[in-house]
Amino acid sequence: MNKSITQKIIEQHLVSGTFIPGNEVGIKIDQTLNHDNAGALTYLQFVSLGVPMVKSEVSVTYLDHNTLQMGCEDADDHQYLQSVSGKYGIYLSRAGNGICHQVHLERFGKPGKTLLGADSHTLTCGALGMIAIGAGGCDVALAMGGSPYYFTCPKVIKINLIGELSPWVSAKDVILKILQMFTTKGNENFVFEYDGDGLKNLSVPERATIANMGDECGITTSVFPSDEMTRLFLMSQQREEHWIEIKADPGADYDKVVDINLSEIVSLTARPHSPDNISSVKSVGEIEVDQVCIGTCTNSSYKDLATVARILKGKVAHSRVSFVIAPGSKQVLDNLLRDGYLSHLLLAGARLADCACGFCLGRGYSPKSHGVSLRTSSRNFQGRSGTKDAYLYLVSPETAAAAVITGKFTDPRDLKVEYPKVYMPERLRIDDRMIIKPGDVNDALSIEKYDGRGIGDLPKGDPLHQNILGEVTLKAGDTVTLDHILPGRFQKKYRSSLAKYAEFVFEDLDNTFYKRSKEIRNEGKYNIVVAGVSYGEGSSKEHAAICQMIVGIKVVIALSFRERHKTSLINFGILPLTFKNEDSYNNIDQGDCIEIANVRKVLDDGGKLFVRNLTKQKEFEVSYHLSERQRRILFSGGALNLWLSQRDRQ
Ligand code: SF4
Repeated sequence: MNKSITQKIIEQHLVSGTFIPGNEVGIKIDQTLNHDNAGALTYLQFVSLGVPMVKSEVSVTYLDHNTLQMGCEDADDHQYLQSVSGKYGIYLSRAGNGICHQVHLERFGKPGKTLLGADSHTLTCGALGMIAIGAGGCDVALAMGGSPYYFTCPKVIKINLIGELSPWVSAKDVILKILQMFTTKGNENFVFEYDGDGLKNLSVPERATIANMGDECGITTSVFPSDEMTRLFLMSQQREEHWIEIKADPGADYDKVVDINLSEIVSLTARPHSPDNISSVKSVGEIEVDQVCIGTCTNSSYKDLATVARILKGKVAHSRVSFVIAPGSKQVLDNLLRDGYLSHLLLAGARLADCACGFCLGRGYSPKSHGVSLRTSSRNFQGRSGTKDAYLYLVSPETAAAAVITGKFTDPRDLKVEYPKVYMPERLRIDDRMIIKPGDVNDALSIEKYDGRGIGDLPKGDPLHQNILGEVTLKAGDTVTLDHILPGRFQKKYRSSLAKYAEFVFEDLDNTFYKRSKEIRNEGKYNIVVAGVSYGEGSSKEHAAICQMIVGIKVVIALSFRERHKTSLINFGILPLTFKNEDSYNNIDQGDCIEIANVRKVLDDGGKLFVRNLTKQKEFEVSYHLSERQRRILFSGGALNLWLSQRDRQ
């Protein structure tokens, strides 16, 4: 059988299962990445495994989300992450060195390897011909401890890129076109595998922008071939020896093939408040722009920022526009400096932000009330910028630069100047001194576990009992996001104090939830959550799952789940059940008392599972889609409990 790149890499790493889409497979993980937004929780779980040293080939901690260190919480977390990294053989990329995805692409990614990251945009490294997947911290911790990563074997869609992009149109426009075609829904358990003659003109950083925002489509990952472009990129990084060629077999089997003619793509934008709300820049009209932010983990490469610098050379930002740049890494910044581009940007009025996530997630640079902000980052959800009523538009660096000059939405072709085509340099200046290598620790403090202000105990879940008695503590609607489950605004203060953070579960949907959930637990019942379609949309924020466990939620019954959150629920011992029809969802109310009898036996036998509504004296059937391994996790009360019990039996 002729194989896709996806199938080849997955099969080379298979530990369990076979490459049959829809079946669960387990793969060996070669590399992991974590960062300072989720890392403390991940490392608490890793440390609890009792493993003396990471078992992956490469594991890296990135201090990149909370680099401003406003208040002690961020600095405490950084100290904790540095101490765990030093102790367990993990590289540490220090605050200011860059954003995990950009730095990993530059310094660690290798064609043909697998990467598991506790961040949803881990797919970025698919640009190098890796299988790179974003997962919850629990799965990443287990992979660091040597466990395989289990997931649903994906179907593969080949996206055939044909021809060449027109001047002023770039990689961001390609992924916005793909988002227009595929939208943000209905793509779970698919991989986008790129091919076609159009690839010969797309450098690795351009591929990285496309790979990164595959996450907005909800896919498992994006993957590119490892070809001559990949070799040139690795050569510029002075690590050509890591290059191997990877390509699909001729006539490889795909679930679907989609052709995209690059020359037909025009400058596009994702309008507020969703990455798939796509229009051409021309059709948006000349809306006045208040802020332009260029960089973060998409469009933050040397090529992107050098292109902007050349467009802006000798000009100054329009008086209305607040202009910010966040290079993806210190390496990008240093090479912009080397080649004279940084001064063009600064003289044009750019404010230089940390090489960090910053404005992408509202850590600084929030636009004014009702402001229009053009951004080259990956998400434009309402409120993500820190200004709830702002209007965020995702655009290419070229469109962003045009707005810097004109102060309004402008198709960059209307600048009527020659397009400054920038190529990636053959050699970049490389300086890895901001990366602390395992065993390279000269700070005695940093090899001790540091508990800071309360980073500490990891709560454990209850095993699944034979009979579950509970109350519907919350009936939610469709598209409950991770931010609805656990508001992000409390994350900074409480992300490492889990019991406290759990007090804010569902705060924005019903601020009586926590108090009521406690009362129900005191009555000896579990909390049960009922929801509509797409429960758990959003990033890979695992706190949302562990905090549901802490408040005693044992079952979530929804019309459908986002796959990544469903996995996290199971990892923390929460049973995800699916309504068989909308009538069952409509006939259940908040406050109803629920009984699910013989649940362990039914899950074991594979029989029909019924939920009894004791309040309404009705019964309805629900579905469960669980692998044998997931059943064992639930029976143990969570993935860590299962791992520890298996270790103790050995
Ligand atoms: Fe950071 Fe934003 Fe990228 Fe997430 S999407 S890694 S917050 S820059």
